[in-house]
Amino acid sequence: MPIKQSLLTLTLFVLTSALQAQDYFFKDKAPFDTSIPSPEEFLGYPIGQQHTRHDRIVAYLTKLAEVSDRASIYQYGKTHEHRPLVILTVTSAENQSNLDNLKRQHLEFVDAGKNASNYDLPVFINLAYNVHGNEPSSSEAAMLSAYTMVASNSPEVMNYIKNAVIFIDPTINPDGRDRHSQWANQYQGNPLVSDGQDAEHNEAWPRGRTNHYWFDLNRDWLLAVNPESRGKLKWYHEWYPNVVTDFHEMGSNSSYFFEPMKPNASWDPIMPKENYEDLNNLFAGYFKEALDGIGSFYYTKESFDGTYPGYGSSYPDLQGALALLFEQASSRGHVQETDYGKIKFPFTIRNQYVSSIATVKAAVENRTTLRKYQQKFFKTAESERVATGFSGYEFGDAHDMNRNKAFIDKLLIHKIKVYKNGNKFVVPMKQPQRRMVQNLFESYNKYRDSVFYDASAWSVANFYNMQHKGVKSNSLGQEITTTDGLVNVSKVNKAEYAYIMDWDDYNAPAALYHIQSKGVKASSAFKPFSINTSSGNKSFSYGSILIPISLQKKSPEEVYDIVKAAQDKFQVPIYGTNSGFSSKGIDLGSGYFQALKKPKAALLIGDGISSYEAGEVWHLLDTRMQMPISKLQINRFRSLNLDKYNALVMVSGSYRQLDSIQRKKLKTWASKGNTLITIANASKWLVDKKLVKEEFTKKPKDTSKTKDKTKKVKRLPYVDASNNIGREQLGGAIFNVDLDLTHPLAFGYRTSVLPVYKNNEVFLKPSKNAYSTVAKYTKNPHVDGYISNDNLEIYLKPSASLIVSPIGGGRAVMFADNPNFRGSWYGTNRLFLNALFLGNKIRIPKGRD
Ligand SMILES: [Zn+2]
Repeated sequence: MPIKQSLLTLTLFVLTSALQAQDYFFKDKAPFDTSIPSPEEFLGYPIGQQHTRHDRIVAYLTKLAEVSDRASIYQYGKTHEHRPLVILTVTSAENQSNLDNLKRQHLEFVDAGKNASNYDLPVFINLAYNVHGNEPSSSEAAMLSAYTMVASNSPEVMNYIKNAVIFIDPTINPDGRDRHSQWANQYQGNPLVSDGQDAEHNEAWPRGRTNHYWFDLNRDWLLAVNPESRGKLKWYHEWYPNVVTDFHEMGSNSSYFFEPMKPNASWDPIMPKENYEDLNNLFAGYFKEALDGIGSFYYTKESFDGTYPGYGSSYPDLQGALALLFEQASSRGHVQETDYGKIKFPFTIRNQYVSSIATVKAAVENRTTLRKYQQKFFKTAESERVATGFSGYEFGDAHDMNRNKAFIDKLLIHKIKVYKNGNKFVVPMKQPQRRMVQNLFESYNKYRDSVFYDASAWSVANFYNMQHKGVKSNSLGQEITTTDGLVNVSKVNKAEYAYIMDWDDYNAPAALYHIQSKGVKASSAFKPFSINTSSGNKSFSYGSILIPISLQKKSPEEVYDIVKAAQDKFQVPIYGTNSGFSSKGIDLGSGYFQALKKPKAALLIGDGISSYEAGEVWHLLDTRMQMPISKLQINRFRSLNLDKYNALVMVSGSYRQLDSIQRKKLKTWASKGNTLITIANASKWLVDKKLVKEEFTKKPKDTSKTKDKTKKVKRLPYVDASNNIGREQLGGAIFNVDLDLTHPLAFGYRTSVLPVYKNNEVFLKPSKNAYSTVAKYTKNPHVDGYISNDNLEIYLKPSASLIVSPIGGGRAVMFADNPNFRGSWYGTNRLFLNALFLGNKIRIPKGRD
């Protein structure tokens, strides 16, 4: 074939296949403005042929904003890996040029003091996609939705953009998406391989679901730990959309899910029931019609719940919007075999696209209902009485201003009003974000259901171990609008003899690491004392850090500069003293000061290990302590030199790769005086593999005389099995423990009762050694969340939450609970950090108990 002719054929082929590809998605949206490039024209391949990288998605949306007066683009943040987070705003050209005015009118509906009545105003819709990076269909659908709204001149779409402002967030989690996209594309075969065992369909650890630090961003809306959520929350509270979507994927053998969710569990106790009962059913009618229209199968009502207020499909519900969850059976890769034949990537994209358009249609046709609902939501926020009868909450910790600051930051990002009154902070109930105040402070004991999709406890005040109480009347004081300048430590003066740092402050370990990493020696007080400082006589608690001046290799000037820099950076209380003589308790030369070694920490990661828990450790040390930790791949364990580390962290995992030889290696290393720190199921593994001589709490033996075993055999309906099993699982709840405040692991705590987070069934028996049970659940430990009666009475109450167990000359610090859960447990982080910083100083007394 001559070159010209072959080119023509090729062009024709590309054009036809392009048209066919577009027809598959949106032939009913023609005619399209031909001056606007379709995703296929821009990317050079039809949507669904490969996984589109986030930078290409951003480039396409940027192009749409360039060429069309219907679209504008806004960057609301960037990820840990510096990828831009963007929103494309699409509406008619007329609305686009009038956006400030529309926004002003829209915001009157969320202002209880205003009586907005322009219900016909364009509805604000946030189409948000791909919070889980390895659920990729939705970001591809985002480009199709954007193209449709920008380029279609059909009467249908013209009506949508006249009556809606559509905010398209194509990728909530770009770091995870790119991790997965790279995987799926690099293993893509030609021809495609649908075998589920092929590498394309089996991503390597940690997979693409989570962000850079392996956090699930679909839990982070409430906790606001990561830049992705923080940027989005700032944007959110500027716009308060009426409808928000959240697109996901699930197992390949499933079909499609849209709301309503599982009825009982999905009722958040503080949500207006119109949200669940009326709006969800109203919108379901549109999704049903759209999916029936293309012959796609789906289900509703059987699963998922919106109780936890930190999902993308629940947080907006608490802001007067209708938030919508969609779940598509995943092709995970480009095509995969299932029980129902092959599921193809374009098919999954089309369902998400069709549901996006149905969302816009439903919102436009019901905009008056949505506006009235949101208006009422905010008016009742201020007028309704709460069941507790409290008019507000007081909180604050006198010894830890940086923890106060972190908690207040969380209140402010949710637009909760907070005031400072003397030494106390006050949050009133009467405010637009009253329901968020309830979420953060109230705890619940009664549930309509017992099987949850996730955590059943989210009283964030307990996460922060924030002392708080409900009050019946309050005087507010000065409103706090920023956390800048909230912590005001008095600057440390140059001293002749020593410096002393409080260990109570959340940032104290970060400051200590800074000082140690500059080569300055420090020790920890194993008993309290009072001494004269540059700020007068001060009493210091367990764990206070002593920095002696004459014992350093550095000059007093250099030591001062380092101490001062640590204080500047981390804002912790540090005092100078010119004498070692205490007015009370131990003197500064006492043997009760233990010289500390700088932690050289490592963390096992890889197959079989919980990437969430590992990510929480990495994130804590990186972002809060500014301390490096080596991430050791478990498949290389055999060849690793463990002697480079004095602390090793093992989070929940199966650890099947550690055979008896590798376990011996681990034991030998620990025996040299090092500290093995295990969390939750890793603690169980240590006991199971007999690396420590500890036990689990067992059910007491049945003492009844009957030997008739048949009486004990239960027979139950098959259909109830999953619910019955679910009921015994501890999805996530909060319990109080009693701490031994004199134990090094509890240094920095002033009160012995501490809330901890438990989302496992690891029940450790208190240690036989009388000095080794650092934290045990209190007599009535339940604080918040669901636990079955058996789990509470038989297993939890007699158990220990934290024990230390000897391994030769070293030890294992064993957590039954997760002290670093979701980067939000400021209250228990210190237990974990103590294990890193003070672990090697723990002796296990052998005395009789
Ligand atoms: Zn998902």
